[in-house]
Amino acid sequence: MAMMAIFFVLVEEMSWFDSHCHLNGFLEKGILEEVLVRASEHKVTRMTAVGTDPDDWSVYRSLAGSYPDRIFYSAGLHPSYVNSEWLTQVTALPQLWTSEPRPIAVGEIGLDYFRLPKNAADAELAMERQRQAFSHQLSFARERNLPVIVHSRNAFEDCLVLIEKSGIDWKKIVFHCFSEGISQVEKLMERGALASFTGILTFRKNDNLREAALRQGLENLMIETDSPYLAPEPIRGKINEPAFLKHLGQFASQLFEVPEDYLAERTFERTCDFYGV
Ligand SMILES: [Zn+2]
Repeated sequence: MAMMAIFFVLVEEMSWFDSHCHLNGFLEKGILEEVLVRASEHKVTRMTAVGTDPDDWSVYRSLAGSYPDRIFYSAGLHPSYVNSEWLTQVTALPQLWTSEPRPIAVGEIGLDYFRLPKNAADAELAMERQRQAFSHQLSFARERNLPVIVHSRNAFEDCLVLIEKSGIDWKKIVFHCFSEGISQVEKLMERGALASFTGILTFRKNDNLREAALRQGLENLMIETDSPYLAPEPIRGKINEPAFLKHLGQFASQLFEVPEDYLAERTFERTCDFYGV
């Protein structure tokens, strides 16, 4: 009987899923192991290490192999890393799906019109390349019916247009680090796509973002640290890490007025469902 009680306590234990983080910086500093220990201590039991270029794809692939069912990984060419080599790099992407551990999603891919070259002609070329690389990766995802992690900065409408054009199932799309307002979240909802929220949800001035999160609803809430960036309040400005998802989760549970373990369970399940893990 005592054994049984312990068993139930373990099963009921709260778990968080950090749906989007970058771990290569911790690995380079030699502190990944302690970062993972702190994540466990804070009940962050699963995380997706999100690829941005061929260098981190291979790093995350081996991490996913070393930490099965704990670290998952995605692979995609981030718009800010799109250069003249993009087509070669993107053409190599499908290779990653031919053996285990396979990426669980394509991403992060998308458009970033915020960080562009100063010179107008260079900026134009960069944007055009980003659009081509995004479209190319979207059609790969559509062919394989894979989930897609979208990075959109100052480019929401263009992202919508290219996703629509690709013919991909909108249910496979998450806009990570969503930082728009109600009308944009409604555009995603109408189509069946998701918005995922980072620590910026906790920043004091972001009432519009909180309204957008509430509008999308608890059943579709996905949360992420985007480590090492965007640490939430009350540790804003520090180097973020998966353990700090806990702060965002606590904040979100107050926002949605539900117990923390309930919010953890909902977001955990929604994230597993989205990634198919
Ligand atoms: Zn990211």
